[in-house]
Amino acid sequence: MLLEIDDIHVHYGKIAAIKGISLQVEEGEIVSLIGANGAGKTTTLKTISGLRPLTSGRVVFNGEDISKMPGHKRVMAGIGQSPEGRGVFPGMTVQENLLMGAYTRKDDLSADLAEVYELFPRLAERKNQFGGTMSGGEQQMIAMGRALMTKPKVLLLDEPSMGLAPMLIAQIFEIIKEINKRGTTVLLVEQNAQQALKLSDRAYVLETGRVVKSAPGPALLDDPQVRAAYLGGH
Ligand code: ATP
Repeated sequence: MLLEIDDIHVHYGKIAAIKGISLQVEEGEIVSLIGANGAGKTTTLKTISGLRPLTSGRVVFNGEDISKMPGHKRVMAGIGQSPEGRGVFPGMTVQENLLMGAYTRKDDLSADLAEVYELFPRLAERKNQFGGTMSGGEQQMIAMGRALMTKPKVLLLDEPSMGLAPMLIAQIFEIIKEINKRGTTVLLVEQNAQQALKLSDRAYVLETGRVVKSAPGPALLDDPQVRAAYLGGH
């Protein structure tokens, strides 16, 4: 098992945001977390990347308990995160933004940069443009590319389709599939449940800080409860 979360509880002050979530991600998988606003999806990702502390439970990565490991060490261990809201540096060029992802690395970055540009030709065309002047979809690509520059074993993606036009959404999901095919495990948080489930080996449905269902992605697409709650009942 590449990543395992074992009965985690997470609080914001006195408020319990996560009330005992367990989940597993195997090497090579695409796993999705779906659920309504406030279900705890983002908090789960932040707990894995070390941005939120646990109240109790464990996060195990590659067989090691990393529950207390600082975030930057988790990045070096192989956990890459593309955050919700993207966090692109507006006053840096596209290329400088990408290189920020790799600032802890001392090895040659040119092959990885070339691979990111191959996955996102739009970024290659605009590598000298300031991040802040890129469109929403392009900034999403920067955030994903920057996370890939850390050479992650697992890539955590928080709402990559948020705010994007339908054509771009399809493109982003294609790129996620390609990233996975090239060997990166993916843990995906999505409001766009339909697209996420189609692409996922497995998925977990979260409700108010708990897992209420887990199954292969395509099976959840056919699940009447999931259809009614998250797929617009179609
Ligand atoms: P969304 O799809 O809306 O992003 P989510 O499933 O990602 O939702 P979280 O952002 O993880 O949900 O939030 C889980 C719960 O924790 C919510 O009730 C939210 O209000 C609360 N919460 C999140 N961040 C904070 C914070 N910084 N301070 C206080 N409460 C927070």
